[in-house]
Amino acid sequence: MTTNPREQTKQTLTQLGIQSPGAIAQEFAELRGQFDQDKVNFINIGVGDRNQSDALRLYWLGRKAGILSQITNNWLKTAPPELKPTVGQELNKLKAHIELALEETLNYFKERVDLQLGVAEDLSLPGIERAYGTRHLIRQTFEELQRIFTAIGFSVVQGPEIETPYYNFEALNIPEHHPARDNMDTFYIEGARNSHLLRTHTSPMQIRTMEKEKPPVRIVVPGKVYRRDNPDATHGYMFHQIEGLAVDTDITFCDFKGTVEYFAREFLGPKTKTRLRPSYFPFTEPSAEVDATCHVCGGKGCRVCKFSGWIELFGAGMVNPAVYGFVKYDPERLSGFAFGMGVDRLAMMKYGVTEVPLLFQNDLRFLQQFP
Ligand SMILES: [Zn+2]
Repeated sequence: MTTNPREQTKQTLTQLGIQSPGAIAQEFAELRGQFDQDKVNFINIGVGDRNQSDALRLYWLGRKAGILSQITNNWLKTAPPELKPTVGQELNKLKAHIELALEETLNYFKERVDLQLGVAEDLSLPGIERAYGTRHLIRQTFEELQRIFTAIGFSVVQGPEIETPYYNFEALNIPEHHPARDNMDTFYIEGARNSHLLRTHTSPMQIRTMEKEKPPVRIVVPGKVYRRDNPDATHGYMFHQIEGLAVDTDITFCDFKGTVEYFAREFLGPKTKTRLRPSYFPFTEPSAEVDATCHVCGGKGCRVCKFSGWIELFGAGMVNPAVYGFVKYDPERLSGFAFGMGVDRLAMMKYGVTEVPLLFQNDLRFLQQFP
């Protein structure tokens, strides 16, 4: 008996001297072992391409000269009637075994090729649909504020969150040891010898813009700012601001007041009234706190406005002429106003959010209330 299956299956069972079902089963078991050995050899050759797998398939399953075709022709067709069922069953079992093994081999090669090519995905499969998000409440508020101001001729500029003390303080008329620095305690960048800090307001962009551009200037500056506050219900160490600046040869306090009134009506509703209270900021003179009639009770008094009828909107004022000195603007010829709004506070007030942390916890139950 030869061990080469191709030679062996060229002969009939009678020629091979096989006469019992048990001998047939043993013969098929040997063929199966032979195939398994071939398969291992193929993989160990490690050529790893589809042609190798095709050659293995052709050798065993090829229609004309494949081993299984030879078995059909030489063993099954010529078998004595009493042995035919056994040959047929064994042949089917061997065929199923080979087909399954070839499929596994193909997958094995395919995975290796995919790994080499770096394309492990089947691009013909339907994609994964991800849920669309919505704009965050803060982003929505920023967009609303920008819309209100761009409608009357302001343009939007943005600037660095890491600033120098010069732009963050000095050029805004806040010299070192000025008490206004105390409530603007911030984070200094380590190793920079206090030469850089996280900006405490978006106001540095007023200076940077005036340094670059000749008047007239009309800008709003949206962005993140930082202070070293302990986080609680109304404070975080980071919050959002939008800063405004208008400078020209003929800007008066009336323009300032008119802009403030326009903003309050656009943001809180057409019936909103405003009032100014004297205040102090180093970079404006005179300075004011802008209040608006409560958007919830309309000024009658309620819990939101602590029964005063008024709510605090933001701080503002006419640009302090000292600031013009830092940017080489002529204080005799120019005037202007500036304001700085806390965007988180405005959003919370308008939409009835009571706690700052809610804005930043990324809790979908909260975020989905503002689609
Ligand atoms: Zn109220």
